[in-house]
Amino acid sequence: MAITCITFDLDDTLWESGSVLANAEARLYEWIARACPDIARTHSCDALAAHRQAHYASIPEIRHDLTRARILWLESLFEEWGYEPGLAETGFRVFREHRQAVTLFDDAARVLGKLGERYSIGAITNGNADVHHIGIGHHFDFVVTPAEAGAAKPDPAIFELALNAAGASPESVAHVGDDPMRDVAGAAALGLCTVWMNPKGHPWPDEAPPDAEIRTLDALVSVINAWS
Ligand SMILES: [Mg+2]
Repeated sequence: MAITCITFDLDDTLWESGSVLANAEARLYEWIARACPDIARTHSCDALAAHRQAHYASIPEIRHDLTRARILWLESLFEEWGYEPGLAETGFRVFREHRQAVTLFDDAARVLGKLGERYSIGAITNGNADVHHIGIGHHFDFVVTPAEAGAAKPDPAIFELALNAAGASPESVAHVGDDPMRDVAGAAALGLCTVWMNPKGHPWPDEAPPDAEIRTLDALVSVINAWS
């Protein structure tokens, strides 16, 4: 069956995310140091990251929703130190603003635009990047998140939500992502076509290979055209 819809992972598929997330954590830490100085006096940025991970482990039913989980963590952190838990919403806004400051891969906007002429385009993200805030929302027909699906990739629920949004059968959808387990294995388990975005040329780690592998988004166009 021909491809009618392409779904994209966001972080490390359309932009590099490591430096963006590190910067967002650092800006949040600066804000905490101003708003809640007692916390920063005894906790480094790294120590707060460990504190956050420990809190996430205590809320397994929510941790797939990274926005909600981070707000709950901030509330508990501020409460623990005698600050107003309501500060959590403001702190999250600081993180969220810097978290959206991504630099698209050079060919991303052009490839999204070109593929969008012929295919339905969706985003399936585990993170809290916001394509509308980033300024590429017009390229997407739908976006699905773990908050809506109740589970993160590779759980089938989030891919099923995307298939519903696309109104498409699994074999007519190609999913593009950088994570071998969350993106490739997760999408393959439901019967979607899979494209592994592998900009750094890592060896494939798993036994069931993707249907295609690309180093740049530009290379995606000929892959999809060959399947259509
Ligand atoms: Mg990714």
